[in-house]
Amino acid sequence: MASSFKDICPVDVGPVYEGERIRSKEMQIEFGGPNVKYKFELVQVRDAGQIEDGKVTVIGPDIKDLQQGGSYPLGILVEIAGTQVEKDLEGVLERRIHEFTNFIEGVMHLNQRYDIWIRVSQSSFKKGLDSLRYIGNVLVRLYKAEFPIIEKIQVTYITDPEKVKGMYEEALKIYEARDSRARGLRDEDVEEFYGCVLCQSFAPTHVCIITPNRVSLCGSINWFDARAAARVDPKGPNFRVAKGELLDPVVGEYSGANAAAKEKSLGEVTRVYLYSMFGHPHTSCGCFEAIAFYIPEVDGVGIVDRNYQGPAVNGLPFSTMANQTGGGKQVEGFLGIAIEYMRSPKFLQADGGWNRVVWMPSYVKERVLDAIPENLRDKIATEKDVSSTAELREFLKARGHPVVERWKAVEVPAVVEGAAEAETETTVPELAIPVEGVPAVGGGIQLIFKNVKIKADKLIIKKVEKGKK
Ligand code: SF4
Ligand code: ZN
Repeated sequence: MASSFKDICPVDVGPVYEGERIRSKEMQIEFGGPNVKYKFELVQVRDAGQIEDGKVTVIGPDIKDLQQGGSYPLGILVEIAGTQVEKDLEGVLERRIHEFTNFIEGVMHLNQRYDIWIRVSQSSFKKGLDSLRYIGNVLVRLYKAEFPIIEKIQVTYITDPEKVKGMYEEALKIYEARDSRARGLRDEDVEEFYGCVLCQSFAPTHVCIITPNRVSLCGSINWFDARAAARVDPKGPNFRVAKGELLDPVVGEYSGANAAAKEKSLGEVTRVYLYSMFGHPHTSCGCFEAIAFYIPEVDGVGIVDRNYQGPAVNGLPFSTMANQTGGGKQVEGFLGIAIEYMRSPKFLQADGGWNRVVWMPSYVKERVLDAIPENLRDKIATEKDVSSTAELREFLKARGHPVVERWKAVEVPAVVEGAAEAETETTVPELAIPVEGVPAVGGGIQLIFKNVKIKADKLIIKKVEKGKK
């Protein structure tokens, strides 16, 4: 594969470079990422007459013009045409920008849509990779090779800050239109679900099950998108999933989804709950926009997104929890999700849905505010309200959050007769959590937290097989 790109790109190209990570010390420059507000990538279907096939344009300063070590805004616009290319394909084709860009030696692409982060390494820059044009050339060739239905394609990189900003606003409207389309549909109303295994190159046991009420965790492929992709390219990473029997409407367990997960994970994952983060949660690769994490101290759920700086309310930063969550494992109490999934009527339905959510970053809360039931809006804390689980507990109590009711339900009588005096000063009532609600505790154990503060840099939870303890 590598040799076939020599005529259009100064560095190698191939799947071997896909997992490459470029640390800040090794980078020439980066586009997007946490230090840059305006960034996006977008695929748009056009009329053939609007496209000059194979053309790659850079609007604004190119890699060679930008200062080493800097972070810059970037918009990527891929325009395609073809008699069989439907508008429905835009989402899945857009997702491939990630994969194709990562094929280039010394180029790293993370995330998607409005959240992209691209780094170019110094070593590839020295080999001549000093223009976005080369990256565009590779995209053109890979798109055409992978999708013969694409008859014409042109790629535009926008680095001019003002232009990126303007187009970013437009792009947000386009993503919103795609997402809102699936909002009117319910899982019960469709005949079939879809799946995606694009991320198996990073997480070999990961299978996304995509339903109307459960958008993929990367947030960029919804049910309509996956359906369109499975139709045009049934052997590709998106495929049809027969629903089978609805085994449990509350947790969202379908025999067909189980079977698909089992087949595509080569037997590793056999059951998937679509609407729960406990029991048999959906696997997570690494592309999730946010993590839903269980907070045992309050028996509630926190949400932290990938752009959140600093530790979340449980003391753990996103990156630490991401290591715990990702990699294609099923980890009870940690679930990679898309922001859009929070809008689903089945969002963590089995776990209490919004009634169980106790903390999230203020800007995420702002973004999904209309999806939060009105009576809960002032009861969900953000980093502006609390900075520890002890404070969170007080906040929830003061605001009358519904999880407080759960504490009563599971609380174990704290004091033995006679020992009462010593115990009455307890500010954090002890809390016993039933096994079902606790990440990775097996075999009838009950965790009891008693005035405990847990701090950890890394949390390793291993699944213990029955009888192997
Ligand atoms: Fe596909 Fe899921 Fe990866 Fe998104 S996160 S690209 S839907 S496998
Ligand atoms: Zn992924």
